[in-house]
Amino acid sequence: MGPPGAGKGTQGALLAEALALPKFATGDLLRDAVRRGTPLGVRARAVMEAGHLVSDDIILGVIGDELARPEAQGGVILDGVVRTVPQAEGMATLLGERGRRIDHVLFFDVSDEEILGRIERRRTEEGRADDDPAAVAVRLRAYREQTAPVVDWYEARGVVRSVNAVGTLDAVAARVREALGIS
Ligand code: AMP
Repeated sequence: MGPPGAGKGTQGALLAEALALPKFATGDLLRDAVRRGTPLGVRARAVMEAGHLVSDDIILGVIGDELARPEAQGGVILDGVVRTVPQAEGMATLLGERGRRIDHVLFFDVSDEEILGRIERRRTEEGRADDDPAAVAVRLRAYREQTAPVVDWYEARGVVRSVNAVGTLDAVAARVREALGIS
């Protein structure tokens, strides 16, 4: 977890590779659905482009499908999930029904100033529609109002590991491994 541009996608991919686990990113999945014009993509597109969060029902449906996949049975790295307290509650139920749980929540700690610089760079490099300044402002507000409280929700359950997310890719990756107690 962490604000947009905190490095969740990049570090999640490295961690998934290091642990040989699949990475499941709702943002990537939704962007793919939008590109392919599936019913999910059609429902999500305008909401995403404006920088708002997609509804909890849609997200929980997507998560349920992903967790049921055979390759997810040995564990998964989740990226960009969960983003609201109802999603956290729904996810706990989905996992509980399968006799599973969240082991660790990595919180990527980074200042607003750094975030804005990173998103601007990403906009130039990747051209994501929701990286334009108006959508970024909405995404940051959604993060503060809806997602930041989820960190407290997990904190109360003792699973949050905070990581200083400013530094080189390798330095942050090393901190992630240290936070999880893996070498
Ligand atoms: P991301 O790539 O994780 O920044 O996600 C891009 C966009 O997809 C977000 O701004 C939301 O519109 C949507 N999205 C991705 N994950 C979620 C989620 N867990 N809950 C609600 N919306 C999401």
